Amino acid sequence: MEPFVKGEDASILHLISWENAVEGLTAGFTTRIGGQSEAHYEGLNCGLHVGDLDEKVIQNRKSICEKVGFPFEAWTCADQVHGNQVEIVTRHQRGSGNTSMVDCINKTDGLITAEKNILLTAFYADCVPLFFLAPEEQIIGIAHAGWKGTAANISQKMLHTLTSEYQIKIDSVKVAIGPSIGRCCYEVDERVVGPFLKIWSATELPDWITPNGINAGKYQLDLKEANRYLLMKSGIPSENILVSQWCTSCHTDLFYSHRKEDGKTGRMTAFIGWR
Ligand SMILES: [Zn+2]
Repeated sequence: MEPFVKGEDASILHLISWENAVEGLTAGFTTRIGGQSEAHYEGLNCGLHVGDLDEKVIQNRKSICEKVGFPFEAWTCADQVHGNQVEIVTRHQRGSGNTSMVDCINKTDGLITAEKNILLTAFYADCVPLFFLAPEEQIIGIAHAGWKGTAANISQKMLHTLTSEYQIKIDSVKVAIGPSIGRCCYEVDERVVGPFLKIWSATELPDWITPNGINAGKYQLDLKEANRYLLMKSGIPSENILVSQWCTSCHTDLFYSHRKEDGKTGRMTAFIGWR
């Protein structure tokens, strides 16, 4: 069953099983529906500096906060660089980057917090959102994993931080892999496949990379499955991992897609917070 579920409001897909299971937890992924934008792509763009007016983006972020029951001051985000840097967020960084790139958490693609009333957010147009939850210890995290971050094993960095900083048992961590570009739409070349083959370290291709079949030297890469593989390799039981079936590139009615829209598009938000 699809873990990211449309509610009454088409602007938000809720990670419904986590929200239902954990009192006070909100987690989900925004769509492009609703909101306001000055850019040609229109909709609920949440990314500053993708050719949109800052005021519109801020207004969109505020409307999401209202819908998920968090004050805008709680919206906390980083300057994402397709790396594997992970930062622990405390109340001192609460609100970082909510109105400007200037005070974003610097050069970070993974955020973790043990504190309540912080809404961790990250932005996507095809890259993979990873959500982390340690229900007993009440610790949450979010990560941005495009092909570079996935190959740089940001998922393992997140898990390492959770287990080393908070002594969480790895098999109690839950992870959700959100809407992102699917294998169907993600053709890559050997430059991209190479780092994954190093991770895989076997002669045959993993089942999440398939030769394109038509274009020589091209492959279809399943980034969601690559992340699932890496999470399981790090010790997460498969039953703890939820995987969205949504392909952002197949559904540009619902999502922004960097690949489908030639790089000129908006950004969706993945969010997680504990009230
Ligand atoms: Zn697709």
